[in-house]
Amino acid sequence: MTTQRKSPAEVAAGLKLPPNVSFRRDPLPGGIAYVFRHAELGELGRLCVTGTASGETCVVTEIAGDEREAMFVQRRAILEPLSHEIVTALESIRGPSSTPPPPLAAKHSMPGGTIPVEEVRCDRCGALVALLVFAEDAIDPGRFEDVARQMYPHYAVTTAQTYIIGPEQGSMPANFRAAIMKVWPQREPITTFTPDQFRLHVTSLLTGHCR
Ligand SMILES: [Zn+2]
Repeated sequence: MTTQRKSPAEVAAGLKLPPNVSFRRDPLPGGIAYVFRHAELGELGRLCVTGTASGETCVVTEIAGDEREAMFVQRRAILEPLSHEIVTALESIRGPSSTPPPPLAAKHSMPGGTIPVEEVRCDRCGALVALLVFAEDAIDPGRFEDVARQMYPHYAVTTAQTYIIGPEQGSMPANFRAAIMKVWPQREPITTFTPDQFRLHVTSLLTGHCR
């Protein structure tokens, strides 16, 4: 390579990242993906920087998750300016690109591994009342969001109250508890429940169903 243009890696290294945002590099065929993550929003998406045969650099922004999902807009609001910054930085070196940056593409990421889900059904009518997602990896807000994003296709087709349940905390039964986030059909903040409190809560959903 004899060009003087800044490499995408140099451009990425010079990015001014918003608070709580970090990124890692993943190799791609013919390029590299910069995968951005927010401490509270989880994975935001990635910028795929690839070279074309004619020597142009192509930057595609992929926002993580389903665009109908509640947090998609927030992920896009952080990722889009970063994408523009990279595109502008690359263009400032080699002049405007003859082709405009490709449009944003929503990325439908699949769960990395199996996340156990328990279905709670009404014992009278059999309706699905609740989905309990047991997410051992959900140890901070960002990872709760990762699970909410990954499981969206699963719960969004239901009317079931959906809860993401973090790992059990506590050293003995008397102080067992878990951080739990309701994500569907309305989102609620992460709340800590004891097993008894949560069992009571789920029971209350079943009591009075279809009667
Ligand atoms: Zn019922």
